[in-house]
Amino acid sequence: MKSHDLIIVGAGLAGMRAALEGVKENVNVAIISKIHPLRSHSCAAQGGVNAAIDPEDDTSLHSYDTVKGSDYIGDEDAIELMCETAPEAIMEMDRMGCPFSRREAGKIAQRPFGGASFDRTCFAADRTGQVMLHVLWEQLVKAKVPVYEECQVLKLVTDPDGKSVTGVVVYDIKTGEVFPIRGKAVLMATGGYGRVYQSSTNATTNTGDGMALALRAGAPLADMEFVQFHPTGLRTSGILVTEGARGEGGVLINVDGERFMGKYAPTKKELASRDVVSRGEQTEIIEGRGRDGAIFLDLTLLGAEKIMERLPQIRQLCIDLEGVDPIKEPIPVRPTAHYSMGGIRTDKYGASPLSGLYAAGEAACVSVHGANRLGGNSLLDGVVFGKITGKAASEFVNSQEYRIFPQEAVDEVNKDIENLINREEWGIRPVELHTRLSSKMNAYCGVFRTPDGLAQAEEQLPSVRRDYDLIHLDDKTKSFNLNLLRALELRNIIDLAECIIKGAIARTESRGAHSRTDYPTRDDDNWRKHTIAMWNAETKSVELSYEAVRTVDNPRYVPKERVY
Ligand SMILES: Cc1cc2nc3c(=O)[nH]c(=O)nc-3n(C[C@H](O)[C@H](O)[C@H](O)COP(=O)(O)OP(=O)(O)OC[C@H]3O[C@@H](n4cnc5c(N)ncnc54)[C@H](O)[C@@H]3O)c2cc1C
Repeated sequence: MKSHDLIIVGAGLAGMRAALEGVKENVNVAIISKIHPLRSHSCAAQGGVNAAIDPEDDTSLHSYDTVKGSDYIGDEDAIELMCETAPEAIMEMDRMGCPFSRREAGKIAQRPFGGASFDRTCFAADRTGQVMLHVLWEQLVKAKVPVYEECQVLKLVTDPDGKSVTGVVVYDIKTGEVFPIRGKAVLMATGGYGRVYQSSTNATTNTGDGMALALRAGAPLADMEFVQFHPTGLRTSGILVTEGARGEGGVLINVDGERFMGKYAPTKKELASRDVVSRGEQTEIIEGRGRDGAIFLDLTLLGAEKIMERLPQIRQLCIDLEGVDPIKEPIPVRPTAHYSMGGIRTDKYGASPLSGLYAAGEAACVSVHGANRLGGNSLLDGVVFGKITGKAASEFVNSQEYRIFPQEAVDEVNKDIENLINREEWGIRPVELHTRLSSKMNAYCGVFRTPDGLAQAEEQLPSVRRDYDLIHLDDKTKSFNLNLLRALELRNIIDLAECIIKGAIARTESRGAHSRTDYPTRDDDNWRKHTIAMWNAETKSVELSYEAVRTVDNPRYVPKERVY
């Protein structure tokens, strides 16, 4: 059987950064990725990465902004750790050769971003994620880290008593072969679950696999109801226009040409935090001041030169996908599912309560983003907690022996695949069922959540699960059977949708990205706590419990009304 002391699932920023730490600690480490590493969603990140590197700025101010941005449900110990480590993490990327945009004097340039009280977002034009990912990839190639490319993990395996992780079962997309890999620890860096929603800025691969696999293996997920809607997804495709566009001076206008954000965030306007801007936009649209379900992002006032220098990719995306040239006219945009605040529950070193399971990046809930993530804090989360978690997991495996890997785990996965492929009777196609579920998630579990909408979201779950058992695959082949992969991912999406819906129904308050029309205010007395979702294998459903927020003694973090 193949064996690696540390198995990292995912080759985005978090997974790659963690692997480098494994190399440094002399651990036998390998990465598994369902797509080529350089196609990981990190590559799509445009706007930038936060760090208090300017002498006028302060890491404590970055921490304060992040605690406030999280709507006081982020874990303060982890937030401080991230913000204090940020300057070192960015300088490390710089030294590896990351081509950040520069000021004239040669210093790394920084732009304003939403919810931040200082211009602290470092960037490389509008391709920040791409350059960071490529730089880490070069280091991995140099260190000769083995990568199982186009291999999809279908099961997280525990020892027979279910107490410790012993490895994974992998499906080789190229050949259709199913094989086990034994490990002393597994680090999930599988990214977010944006594809639970129909309109999303996320890659089609962002199906939350690692979280769903961890859930079914007995690990807790946290805060799954908090889903960030980005204020500027293109109207038609949902593809992202970076917050950097507003950071550079772009403004939001309604169909009457009115710059409306002053009504919702008098001081910061377009650069309030994302939940606030998305609610402002959605209100304009609901009250009839949008057009075709969208409002407009006006960049014309920046001028052609600045757009070409700072936002060249954005301009091209708008021309190609929306038929609009931002140099000449405003861009139609709308709030679009963007980021998963929820994830595998970990401590501040990335360890989950299931022994041997670690998580980092968007797949994890450490939790540094709480109920609302600040723009630029996720690339940071990836490199900071990739490093910290990679180190913690490496130290762990150095003190462990391999445990029993039950063969039944492989048999189970083979049986699952055979069942899907061999089903002859006509049922529903995976894409149809996915669209049915994900469009309802947008309609009923989106920017605003109504009691009626949430009830409808929950009511559909039994029929979605029933229809999943009737899935029919048109493609029965072994090699690159994307039909089969979409069906397997859909199972993860359904389980995560249940976590989101149940968490949203139970949380009778509004906090960060979770906005209930029937409970419009934040309720710190009853709800300043994390939602924990666990899988009940007998009832095959999700059960909720709650956990206290980890606070530190700092008077600035005492919750107050969040105004921008
Ligand atoms: C369009 C867009 C723009 C963004 N812009 C910014 C920004 O400017 N600043 C910022 O801070 N954040 C931004 N974000 C958020 C940020 O990019 C992501 O949260 C972050 O990059 C996630 O990194 P990750 O390493 O956790 O996962 P990802 O980069 O998503 O990588 C996930 C990896 O997991 C692998 N994987 C998943 N499932 C499996 C499986 N079952 N088996 C094997 N492999 C698997 C994939 O192959 C992939 O390699 C943006 C996000 C989007 C969608």
